[in-house]
Amino acid sequence: MRIDLHCHTSPMSSCSEMTPDEMMMSAIDAKLDGICLTEHNRVWTPEQADSLSQKYGIAVLRGIEVTTTGGDILVFGIDTAPEGLLTPQQLKQIVDANDAIAIAAHPFRGFLLFGFGILQMNVNDAFENPTFSQVHALEICNGKVTDEENDFARQVADALGLIKIGGSDAHSREAVGTCVTNFEAEIKNERDLITAIMNRSFSLERCK
Ligand SMILES: [Zn+2]
Ligand SMILES: [Zn+2]
Repeated sequence: MRIDLHCHTSPMSSCSEMTPDEMMMSAIDAKLDGICLTEHNRVWTPEQADSLSQKYGIAVLRGIEVTTTGGDILVFGIDTAPEGLLTPQQLKQIVDANDAIAIAAHPFRGFLLFGFGILQMNVNDAFENPTFSQVHALEICNGKVTDEENDFARQVADALGLIKIGGSDAHSREAVGTCVTNFEAEIKNERDLITAIMNRSFSLERCK
């Protein structure tokens, strides 16, 4: 199943310019079998996601992108948004209590922009980022960052033995499906998704 693991819709994510219906139409155009709603600090209800799934005939899975003191972390498997600004450690406690999964989103976004010079930073330095010990996976194919930033995230994930996933981080119609994670198993709900990610039974596709 081809699934985009990272999408934002309006008005739940104020930075997004696409409605849920627009996202679904783009997902069908991109021949996706499923899509994940990962709004900033908010979770859709199961009923809302089910009705969207039934209307368009593809899987709609609920996640959340949590703002933490250590960067944005995607979580699948929790039903309510955590309160307040958490550290990655505090979020990990909630994740573990729910048998959920935590993924560092776009872990090196903006590194070139801010003049850090990704090329001068080696993978060993990146190990010291305390966020990476609090997540199961890194997003190494994010549709909104540069190829260099994605490539660096891939090297760090490999060095740390973390799972590597991809998602478009779409905020507009044309971005849906730019980074797709292709699962071997059928994914019917968030539990199936967590199991498949933990088992690493998928491949990544960069589509545009
Ligand atoms: Zn983000
Ligand atoms: Zn995002």
